[in-house]
Amino acid sequence: MVGISVSNLVKDWGSFRAVDDVSFATDKAEFVALLGPSGCGKSTTLRLIAGLDTVSSGTISIDGRAVTDLPPAKRNLSMVFQSYALFPHLDVADNILFGLSVRGVAKAEQQERLKRTVELLGLGHLLDRRPSQMSGGQQQRVALGRALISQTPVCLLDEPLSNLDAKLRAGMRSEIRALQKRLGITMVYVTHDQTEAMSMADRVILLNKGRVEQAGTPSDLYEKPASIFVAQFIGTPPMNILDLAAGPGGAMIAGGTRTVATAAPAGLRFGIRPEHLRLVENGEPATVQSSEYFGADTILTCRIGSQALQVRVPGRPGLADGAAVQLAWDAAATHFFDTTSGTRRDDVARVQSF
Ligand code: ATP
Repeated sequence: MVGISVSNLVKDWGSFRAVDDVSFATDKAEFVALLGPSGCGKSTTLRLIAGLDTVSSGTISIDGRAVTDLPPAKRNLSMVFQSYALFPHLDVADNILFGLSVRGVAKAEQQERLKRTVELLGLGHLLDRRPSQMSGGQQQRVALGRALISQTPVCLLDEPLSNLDAKLRAGMRSEIRALQKRLGITMVYVTHDQTEAMSMADRVILLNKGRVEQAGTPSDLYEKPASIFVAQFIGTPPMNILDLAAGPGGAMIAGGTRTVATAAPAGLRFGIRPEHLRLVENGEPATVQSSEYFGADTILTCRIGSQALQVRVPGRPGLADGAAVQLAWDAAATHFFDTTSGTRRDDVARVQSF
């Protein structure tokens, strides 16, 4: 059974098209991340689902019910915003209960649900605090509590963690994911942070300029990016994308020596992730330009001919800038893209020349 279904959604702000023919459907109790760079239309898409903005065209249904023309309150969903949007004059308990009071839920049931929600979120000791007396993480938990207490089958979250520091964000990520699984609710989660989307979501919808660039599981996007845009948006550092030149056996990295495909290089670009390159004795010659040490690994920026590429190696390789190295990779880890459109090409015969 379908949770949320969005068909051919369009939103124009004057002559600017912020959401351009977006379609997707979620399964019930699925965690879907709407991911993309700033301005790609993810918040607008979420606001359209919530009913906070009206669609220019297209339809939205929730649990099989057409909601496109319904006001937010009739859509049976809850929302969590980046800004928390808590009432400063109300304490935690009243902030969490606010929606239920407005909807006239009986007092006894309110208290029962409050008890369960604060237990779930570990807020029991903070019930009489005001927002100004709490940390960002605690405030965000209250905002989450206010959404969860409504017991709607769908919860929409718009960058809920971006005001938190990195450590707290990592903790809240797994908390939200665990809650979503435990409660069996459908979550649509807007973020520009690919780590967040990749680590939390069952499915990621990557938007670019108002359009769906690729929708799939995190591993679909990582292992089979549909375009150069996806290849470089997913992964840290992003996938290396290199120009090709003609070689004796087909295509080589321009400035390199090893054949990477039997195809002619015209119209093709080559992709390889930094973590899929390794230092070997006898491989593709490259020169180290600089290195960044991160503890568990080091990112080397190297050059093949005039092209820069990044290589992730374990530990601290102790290579000076300017050092000559040799790189190798598996053919299965290579990707090819169309130079003009940037789209993936799966019809290229890849060559392992090491
Ligand atoms: P961010 O991560 O920066 O919030 P986003 O992907 O969520 O970005 P949206 O907020 O959906 O992007 O905005 C998409 C585009 O629509 C942007 O170019 C934005 O300037 C524009 N836009 C959003 N809201 C309005 C509005 N009320 N009036 C006019 N243009 C708008």
